[in-house]
Amino acid sequence: MAPRRCPCGTGLTSAECCGRFSDGTASAATAEQLMRSRYSAFVAGDAAYLLDTWHPRTRPASLDLDRDVRWTGLEVLATTGGGMLAAEGTVEFRASYVRGGRRGSQHEDSRFVREGGRWYYLDGVSLG
Ligand SMILES: [Zn+2]
Repeated sequence: MAPRRCPCGTGLTSAECCGRFSDGTASAATAEQLMRSRYSAFVAGDAAYLLDTWHPRTRPASLDLDRDVRWTGLEVLATTGGGMLAAEGTVEFRASYVRGGRRGSQHEDSRFVREGGRWYYLDGVSLG
């Protein structure tokens, strides 16, 4: 069986890409890696990982994922900061989905902060 490609679209296998973050083997080194792994967690319906990577200041008490949404692709459009030595960064992305047979996309500029050597999602601005 061919190894499964990571849903975030890097072309790597899940194990080489976001899978090592969601299974706890490694932590995301950059804000973009964390953003990609959170997208892959949405694809997988992994609410626990989404909550775990959400900054405690803005994290919801619980997360109900919309089971009718099937995520179909991710494009990272722009990043600022977010590097291995940075403490904050932003990632602008467009995530495509199909819901009830209709295509849609979520365009967002997300903010990330790094604390204690770990990147966290802080919040995001929807760009339509
Ligand atoms: Zn990935």
